[in-house]
Amino acid sequence: MKVKLVKNILEANDRIAEENRKIFDEHGIFVINMMSAPGAGKTTLLEKTIRALKDTARIGVIEGDIATTRDAERIEATGIPVVQINTNGACHLDGNMIREAMDDLPLSAIDLLIIENVGNLVCPAEFKVGEDAKVMLLSVAEGDDKPLKYPLMFSEASLLLINKIDLIPHTNFNMAKVKKECMGINSMLDIIEVSAMTGQGMDKWHNWLQQKFAL
Ligand code: MG
Ligand code: ZN
Repeated sequence: MKVKLVKNILEANDRIAEENRKIFDEHGIFVINMMSAPGAGKTTLLEKTIRALKDTARIGVIEGDIATTRDAERIEATGIPVVQINTNGACHLDGNMIREAMDDLPLSAIDLLIIENVGNLVCPAEFKVGEDAKVMLLSVAEGDDKPLKYPLMFSEASLLLINKIDLIPHTNFNMAKVKKECMGINSMLDIIEVSAMTGQGMDKWHNWLQQKFAL
């Protein structure tokens, strides 16, 4: 019974995500679902990306967190539309939460919507929200053993951003090993090394985004 229940929940979520997709498509919005562990640097990366691209694209953000509006406040300071979802304990965003948050965004005035998922390497990858692409962040500080330990997220993502590369000299992070193991899980995965803090590699990420989204 339990197995069937979980399957039903995921199927129901997929249907809602499909409906979200239709609404996004009607408005011509390209949607990124951004996922990572807590502290990988999603919000810092987003702040830098918004500031770099907001004159060429109309960007909107949905922030997912278990509690607080801290991340939304940081995004709001960049001057673009943002909605904060508090999941009150739930460890991922789902289609319903996005459906509700959409009502608070000026959809006709957005071309690129970035959804920052709850920091968690497990279930965000299981729940579609209506995105065009999943982008995953892995920070050097988390260690190089994550792809094989949390393979689903790496297999679901279109792009892996390896963040905080400025910290590599202070760690035993093996970049070649990580890339090889990622390719073993998902041979279609694009990988870009960045440091949101120093700006290194950020132009490559922005180019990836602009190509996908064809600004
Ligand atoms: Mg954040
Ligand atoms: Zn969850």
